[in-house]
Order: sequence, then structure tokens, then C-alpha cells
Amino acid sequence: MAKKQFKAESKRLLEMMINSIYTNREIFLRELISNASDATDKRYYNALKEGQTGLNRQDLTIDLSVDKAARTLTISDHGCGMTKEELEKNLGTIAKSGSLEFKKENADAKDELDIIGQFGVGFYAAFMVAKRVEVTSRAQDSEEAWCWVSDGADGYTVNPAQREECGTTILLTLKDNTEQENYDEYLEEYRLRAIVKKYSDYIRYPIRMPVEKSRMVEGSDKDADGKDKTPEYETYTEVETLNSMVPLWKKKKSEVEEGEYQRFYKEKFYDFEDPLRVITSSTEGLATYNALLFIPSHAPYNYYSRDYEKGLQLYSSGVLIMDKCADLLPDHFSFVRGIVDSQDLSLNISREMLQHDRQLKLIATSLEKKIKNELELMLKNDRENYEKFFHEFGLQLKYGIYSSYGGTKELLADLLLFTTSAEKKYATLREYRDRMKENQKYIYYAAGESVAKLDVLPQNERLKEQGYEILYLTDEIDEFTLKVMRDYDGVEFRSTSDDDLGLDSESEKEEIKKLNEDNHDLLAKMKELLGDRVADVVLTSRLKSYPVCLTAKGQISLEMEKVLNAMPNVQENQVKAQRVLEINAQHPVFAALTRLWPKQEEKLKEYTEILYTQALLIEGLPVEDPVAYTNAVCGLMTSEE
Ligand code: ADP
Repeated sequence: MAKKQFKAESKRLLEMMINSIYTNREIFLRELISNASDATDKRYYNALKEGQTGLNRQDLTIDLSVDKAARTLTISDHGCGMTKEELEKNLGTIAKSGSLEFKKENADAKDELDIIGQFGVGFYAAFMVAKRVEVTSRAQDSEEAWCWVSDGADGYTVNPAQREECGTTILLTLKDNTEQENYDEYLEEYRLRAIVKKYSDYIRYPIRMPVEKSRMVEGSDKDADGKDKTPEYETYTEVETLNSMVPLWKKKKSEVEEGEYQRFYKEKFYDFEDPLRVITSSTEGLATYNALLFIPSHAPYNYYSRDYEKGLQLYSSGVLIMDKCADLLPDHFSFVRGIVDSQDLSLNISREMLQHDRQLKLIATSLEKKIKNELELMLKNDRENYEKFFHEFGLQLKYGIYSSYGGTKELLADLLLFTTSAEKKYATLREYRDRMKENQKYIYYAAGESVAKLDVLPQNERLKEQGYEILYLTDEIDEFTLKVMRDYDGVEFRSTSDDDLGLDSESEKEEIKKLNEDNHDLLAKMKELLGDRVADVVLTSRLKSYPVCLTAKGQISLEMEKVLNAMPNVQENQVKAQRVLEINAQHPVFAALTRLWPKQEEKLKEYTEILYTQALLIEGLPVEDPVAYTNAVCGLMTSEE
């Protein structure tokens, strides 16, 4: 037969296909195996329809073989095959999917059929690795076979051929090696085995390949006298099934052996530890899918870095489509690993197209709920492991609330844990809320470097003494998260450094206000002495035994100032909290200050500096001039001599 041209649009598509749609060459094998599986499905189904029950899936093998000398790779199936017309129609027109038509015609047979193809482009992936593709096919119920051959974009021929049984054999002659590409790798047993394992492990028919093995020549370990000697070995070939065939996520939970999920997880996701939690889900309805998800027991080393790539493995009817489908997981659950398999997914080939898939969005929403429920269950029934989980991934949940500006608060708030002042143990916000005192107006928190440091902060003293619990925030993100959340269950969050802790009665408030007014001149003088280092100097009722503390007014707390200024790129635009030096009105130090003013301004200056520096030290802030501070204290110690 004379060479026929591909249809015009096909020609362009083919170029595009080879050069751009698939970036990953190895998937050509996935496509050809998927086609073989589809064809076998069709044959099996047609036979059933005609009342033939003699066929056994195990006999309908898909066979791979290589000829290293000729540089060919063959994929052969026992499927429905193609007639001459079908060869021309299906392989001569790109984007023509016989499989999709078949699926449509037999829409009521969803259970028996597991057709993968539907775009009509997969076959051409063969041209990414082959310079010549030869397809010999004999259709089911036909006596004749045909051979379709193409050298690439310039067209194809179809000629009569021989084939004993129905089915299709695809013979690829690999492209010549270049400096960049070594196509010979697709002749290597280990490479083919790995590709099959990776993409086609769950194809329902055995994918087989002759593999070379070595064995001892029988009797060669003994000499003629029956004494031991170095044995001889011989190589032989044995046909081996490469795929495991039943996807674990499609097995019923009751059929899964103990430890099977764990083994699967470790093998598939290269972890050395069992997962903390296994989530299985099989859903029908709006989004039909099977999912097998895992919550790892530890964060990968690069989890909190830009290198970490979130995503679930996406399968369509048992065939891997994408290794890390990011759209299936919201950022706040990016730690989840696992697999989603959906028949409904239009098997779009490009990521861009997949992103807009409605079905995918439905699945993602459903998975998010499922993960949240599992975490809640773990929190309720398996606290020890939940705390372990939170230790590893809690930061991500908090970051999730913050980066959504509180949008994910409803979803995530009850999953958070904070160490509290009560027992220095983790508590949920619900637990805190339930333990609140009757007259307690706020959920108190203090942010700082460590629980130990926060536990001795002067401003927390009075709250603790009165039996109020305080959340100790030790992660940098914490205070930002609470700020965007604003409240929990209607109760506002409030920093223990805040002006108003809601503790004082009206008369007490009046009292401290009056005290501030009465000492206005002294306080104004101290403010003047400190210059723009502070926004204010005030008398306070929040302190018990400490003379001073440093707080901040406005939106930016001292802790937030530290965090923000530690970020890259803020060197020029340093953030500054509006610092307030608070003085304990009940402390003898205050009495001493009143005695100095207005007569001994020099001394007042010295005392003010010392008190300010002490406040900085307590807050864990850098001291501006340590030498001056030391000299001032020494001066005091020796002034009475
Ligand atoms: P898709 O599989 O997405 O439909 P392909 O380009 O891979 O698209 O294949 C085009 C069509 O060629 C298929 O729909 C199918 O009808 C036919 N075909 C491909 N491979 C085989 C095969 N091994 N046996 C029978 N038919 C096949």
C-alpha cells in the first residue's frame, strides 16, 4: 500500500505531542500498556456479552519482550485487536479514541469495564522513544491480520500480515541514542520492570516479561568423588509477572492483612517509620473515588521548606496519571501522603487542564473533610499519637489559619494545641474554654521564646495568682494566628501585655487612673528621659512583685516585632512596637522615684535607665548599652559608702 498521510491536523498534533505534551518519556510504556489493558477489557466484555464464559483474565496476558541487537521493544496483548479500518481510523487520526466510543456505547456496563483511554493521544507517546512503530493486529472474530507501520510524522502504511490469534502486537524500534538521550535504557530489564511497577502495577491483567536468571548447574558442586567443589552457574530465562494487579486501595478493609497498609506506605513513600494513621475512603455520589491516605509519623526533613512538594498520587482506573497532584490537598493538610483513584476523572493529560477539572475539585473537598474528621477522631481517641502528630505538623495547621486570614478557622481551630500555664501541657482551645473561670472575659496568651521564660514573665504573675490559665505561645506564627482568629467560640483572645486584661473593677480602674494623673509630671519626665525608645511610661496594677515590665500598645506586640524583624528583606524597614514602660504602683521602687522628683533629676535619669533596661532584660530584648547599665548598677551599689 502507498504511504498515507496523517490527517492534516493530526500531523501538527503529532509534532506537538512528541515535543511537548509529555515531558516524561518513560510514560510511553504506561500508555501502551493501558491501551493493551483496554483492548483486553473489551475482548473480555464482548465475550461475556456473547455468552462465552471460557475466558480467564489470568490468561489474557500483556507481554513485553526486547531484542537488544535489533534495539526493539515489543508489547503484545490478547485483546480485541483492530480491523484494517480501525487501524486507519484509530491510529491514523490523532485524538480519535475508539475506547471512548466503546465506553459510550456500553455505558450500562460500568462494573465489568474499566476502560482507561479516552483522549486518543496516548498511542503517539510511542514516538517519543521510537523512530518506527509497527502495529500488527487481528480483530476479534476476524480471520485476517493487518500491519500498520509509521516512521513518525510523515505518514503510515497498512499491509496484510499474519497473526495466530486476535490481539495486537506493537513493535517499537528505538530512536538512535544521542548525546543527551540514551534510548537503550528501554531495553534494560530493570528499567522496564521499574516503569511497570511505577505506573501500571494495578493493571488487572498480568504484565509479563522474560527475565534472565542464574542457577547452579545441578550436581556441579561435587566432583566425581562426591567432594565439594566450586559450582558452575548457568543463565536461563523465565517469564515473570511484573505487576501486582490488585490495587490495595480497592481491597475491602476486611481483606487487607495486618501490616499490609503499613508496608505499602513505607515502600511507596520511602519512609522508614509506620504512618501514624491510615485513612481509607471509598465514596460514590458526586465524587466517585477510592482513596488510601496516610498521616506520616514525622515531618520529612524538607517539610517546612520550599523544596517540599505536596500532593497525592492520582490514578485513573488503576493507572498512575500524576505522582503529586497538588490540587487534591489544601496547604494546611500538605503533610498527607497517599493515593486517589477515580474512574470519573477525565484523564486529562496536562496539569493545566487538570487544575480546572470540576470532578477533581469535588474530590479535593471531600478529602479535606475526611482528613479533618480523622484528625478529630485521633485527637479524641488517641491523644498520645495526636500530640505526636501535632508536634510534627501543628505549625502547618496554624500557618493554614494565618495564611487564609482566618478563613479556615472553623475547619482548623479545634485541631490546635497550645501549652498552657496550668500544667505546662498541651490543651485544645475547647479544653481551655471549658476550664475558664466564671467571670473570665478573655482567653489569655503570652508569646515568647520558651515556656520556661513565659512562665516567669512579670505581666503574667497576677493573672496566674488569680487562677487564670494562659496559653503559652512559643512558635513564631502563634500570635499572628490568634490575631487573625480574633476569638474562639465567642471569647476574644487577649495578650497578657494588653492594657486591659479585664481584671479590674470599675473602682480599681478609677484608682489607677487617678494615680497616673496625680503622678503625671513624674511619668512625663521619665518618658522625656527615655526619648523615643518608649511611647509611654505608666503606672500599672497588673504587676505583683516585679517593679517594672515592658508592654506594647497598638497592633504590634514585642514578640511580633522580634519575629517580623528576623525575616529576610526587612533590614531597611524595621518594624517597631510601641513600647510602654509599666511601673508597679505598689512597689517600693515607685515610692523611691516619687522621692527623687523633682529635686534630683540626675538620679531620676539614672534610675529610669536602670528600670528600662531591666524591663528589656525580662522581655528577652537586646540591651542597647550593657556597659552603661553595668556601670549604673555598680554606681548604685557603692553610692552609700
Ligand atoms: P486512547 O487510548 O486515549 O483512546 P490512543 O491514542 O492511545 O487513545 O489510542 C487510540 C485508539 O486506538 C484507542 O482508543 C483504541 O481504540 C485503539 N487502540 C490502541 N491500542 C490498541 C490495542 N492495543 N488494541 C486495540 N485497540 C487499540
